Amino acid sequence: MFERDGFMDLREIEQLPGFPGWQALSRKACAVLECPEEIPCNPCEAACPRGAIHVGRPITNLPRIDAASCTGCGSCIARCPGLAVFVVDLTLTDHDRVILPYEALPLPRAGDAAECLNRAGEVMARGRIVHAVSGEACDCTTVVTVEVPKGLGMEVRGICPVADKGKSVCTGACRDGGAKSPSLSQDAPASREDFGQALACRCEEVSVQEVIDAIREGATTPDAVKRRTRAGMGLCQGRNCGRTVARLIAREMGRPVSLVPPASKRPPVRPIGLGAVLLDGESNGK
Ligand code: SF4
Ligand code: SF4
Repeated sequence: MFERDGFMDLREIEQLPGFPGWQALSRKACAVLECPEEIPCNPCEAACPRGAIHVGRPITNLPRIDAASCTGCGSCIARCPGLAVFVVDLTLTDHDRVILPYEALPLPRAGDAAECLNRAGEVMARGRIVHAVSGEACDCTTVVTVEVPKGLGMEVRGICPVADKGKSVCTGACRDGGAKSPSLSQDAPASREDFGQALACRCEEVSVQEVIDAIREGATTPDAVKRRTRAGMGLCQGRNCGRTVARLIAREMGRPVSLVPPASKRPPVRPIGLGAVLLDGESNGK
């Protein structure tokens, strides 16, 4: 599912070291780290005041959650650049509760209704926002607590706030390429320009607009976009931006993302230490 569609299903998430296990989830609110790519990244580890997240060495390890130490405080959510961290509470009687990162406009407010989206971005149900925190402490990511219908706590991973008259205010921009918006504030206009300025490739700092321009100039495969813009040539080697670029190509070409060819992969397939590539003699200082 993940390789084919770009998002995981529950079975894949259960296999991750960031999944706390059903037993823990039946007893307490707990962080779920939906982080499947071995990229050099570990802010979640430093963010946890309880030491409940472990990445260790090498830094490309997948993060592991220690469910016994996690209090469900949510301090790790805004620190994850991949928006891969959620806190889930399945222990409540009438509903489940999900705390999730949100980087689109308009900003949600406590008391608002929200359409609850699954990992594919499909509307699953109507929920209620009970808390929304943003600001510098959250690094411009809004951390939203949403009540969702019972049984959907491990399914809902996004929201679209609903306006007063019950009409969705979703512009589709957050699902339109999947890129992370650079800097959102309450006063910022939710325009297509903002979307274009968002970074598609954070390693090489290539904007969504640069990728779109390259596609419109004829770069209709991830490799062609990479040659023109350098998107995918950075440290993560396309693990972060690859799906965003593929989705932008699909959108611009009006075709399903499954028909976009994958980018070429060359060894090493993930970052490794220099010691691993030195010859024996070199590593011994000869
Ligand atoms: S929810 Fe709180 S305690 Fe749990 S892993 Fe995140 S920061 Fe640590
Ligand atoms: S992407 Fe998020 S969950 Fe994964 S290692 Fe980085 S900070 Fe942690």
